[in-house]
Amino acid sequence: MSSYEASKLYRIRHSAAHIMAQAMLERFPEAKIAIGPPIEEGFYYDFDLPRPITEEDLQWVENRMKEIMRGDHPFVCREATPDEARKLFKDQPYKLELINDLVNGRVDDNGNPIAEPAERITLYTQDSFTDLCRGPHVENTHDINPDAVSITFKMPAGAYWRGDENREQLTRIYGTAWETPEELQDYLHRLEEAKRRDHRLVGEKLGLFTFSPLVGKGLPLWKPKGALLRDTLERWLRQVQLDNGYQPVVTPHIGNLNLYKTSGHYPYYKDSQYAPIQIDEEEFLLKPMNCPHHIMIYKSELRSYRDLPIRYAEFGTVYRYEQSGELHGLTRVRGFTVDDAHLFVTQEQLLKEFMDAVRIIQYVFNTLGLTDFRARVGIRDPQSEKYVGNSELWDKAAGIIIQACRELNLPHVVEEGEAAFYGPKLDFIIRDTLKREWQLGTVQVDYTLPERFELEYVSEENTRERPVMIHRAPFGSMERFIGILIEHFNGAFPVWLSPVQAVMIPITDRHIEYAESVAAQLRAAGIRVEVDGSKARMGAKIATAREQNIPYMLIVGDRDAAAGTVSVRLRTDEDLGAMPLAQFIEMAKGIIESKSLALN
Ligand SMILES: [Zn+2]
Ligand SMILES: [Zn+2]
Repeated sequence: MSSYEASKLYRIRHSAAHIMAQAMLERFPEAKIAIGPPIEEGFYYDFDLPRPITEEDLQWVENRMKEIMRGDHPFVCREATPDEARKLFKDQPYKLELINDLVNGRVDDNGNPIAEPAERITLYTQDSFTDLCRGPHVENTHDINPDAVSITFKMPAGAYWRGDENREQLTRIYGTAWETPEELQDYLHRLEEAKRRDHRLVGEKLGLFTFSPLVGKGLPLWKPKGALLRDTLERWLRQVQLDNGYQPVVTPHIGNLNLYKTSGHYPYYKDSQYAPIQIDEEEFLLKPMNCPHHIMIYKSELRSYRDLPIRYAEFGTVYRYEQSGELHGLTRVRGFTVDDAHLFVTQEQLLKEFMDAVRIIQYVFNTLGLTDFRARVGIRDPQSEKYVGNSELWDKAAGIIIQACRELNLPHVVEEGEAAFYGPKLDFIIRDTLKREWQLGTVQVDYTLPERFELEYVSEENTRERPVMIHRAPFGSMERFIGILIEHFNGAFPVWLSPVQAVMIPITDRHIEYAESVAAQLRAAGIRVEVDGSKARMGAKIATAREQNIPYMLIVGDRDAAAGTVSVRLRTDEDLGAMPLAQFIEMAKGIIESKSLALN
């Protein structure tokens, strides 16, 4: 059980979900109810409704929920036989399906696969409503503060029963519940802010990327400014990698199906892959992962212990299936580029190489000001069958990761079921300015793929030994990472990442010539600059530049042209006044080269 599941907030939200279902059934007596688990920062419940839900319904339901909370209704737990439960839910087909699966040991009562066959079904009742549920709940509905609860309806909130596109489409209603009204207000504020910062809106406004229905869903098209931003990140990481002994490799976008059968990506990840493509007599997959390709480069030569560690890096594009309903801007796409690297190391080198890979990730995040992060050691769920390899090696690998965290003084939690299919991993979970958590950056230890591909090196004693692999990616997916950066910075990127770093604003037409000559000097100094030679008035030009979050606005008029100065205004509205051009260049270059988060 995670600490969240053990918390009071979890019980409050779980209970609020039951109360939402009660209120919904009062509003829609014919509604069919599905499942309603607590989630991060709230809860939801899925319904099959006789008609589309309106704002008015939702307001009614929210008011009714608060009324139920104010009442004195204990949450009462009892057990029933499967037949009693079936009778109780005879008009609720989704519940009947869950009961059958519980009895057969296929799911728990949140609909998640696992669980032993259940002989008794646990039920929770409050007031007039009973649900299949193992709890935990608050003791009484009045333990929830009605002023700390709200429905947060997300339109469109469609969801498929059991996440299966071939099953019924349900209406998902989201709510949130906190201990105090202040916490609720803070959350709603963050939600509003998140909407305002939505990377899809900001990306559109800044001209970073677009989508075309003719190209396809979940396939972003990077416009020049977005591509420049992405390229700046890539070039930076490429250099950091070169400085740390990584070697670039390049591999194709497809690979023979047998390659992925050997690696185990097929069939383990079959559901997230596209159907094989037939070329001549062979079948190929769009590359779901880069690892097997890099492995074949390792395998292309006989390796000696003197060659190791070998560190191969590639910005490798992979393709994974996502349901169309799950697609979301840049953060959930169907093709994305991983800043991937695979390290082939000896057992003796493993700890140091792992720690060095972690240090690069820490450096990357710190540089970007993403300093609020935690580390999670993901180990396999011993119950699950989706993992390959023997348990001794799994334990050994997990031991190395935990030891590395200790030696790096990196606070970490260990969580079951968060491993890759071939080995345990260390994930970095970032909290952005809106306190939202994102899983970025990962380092994995892998004994399994070297085994499956029979990788070898010749040892000092002239024996054949097996290397260990480290998989790592600081950004993870370039698409998702940039989506998160856009929201984190609300489009106001650090100067070194800004697609346009300075804009020349000539006060009138007769200052355009001077503005152009200044721009040429800035470009020569490596500063990305545009000249706003439009007919708009100066105030409007400043407003446009502010909209675009351009760090420096350089306003030039007669006096500047005569004295060789620029009047510098920051996107924060701070006015630095006139300064000699050389002085501005020195300041801006200093900020850019140091990757500072400041503007001056
Ligand atoms: Zn429940
Ligand atoms: Zn890999």
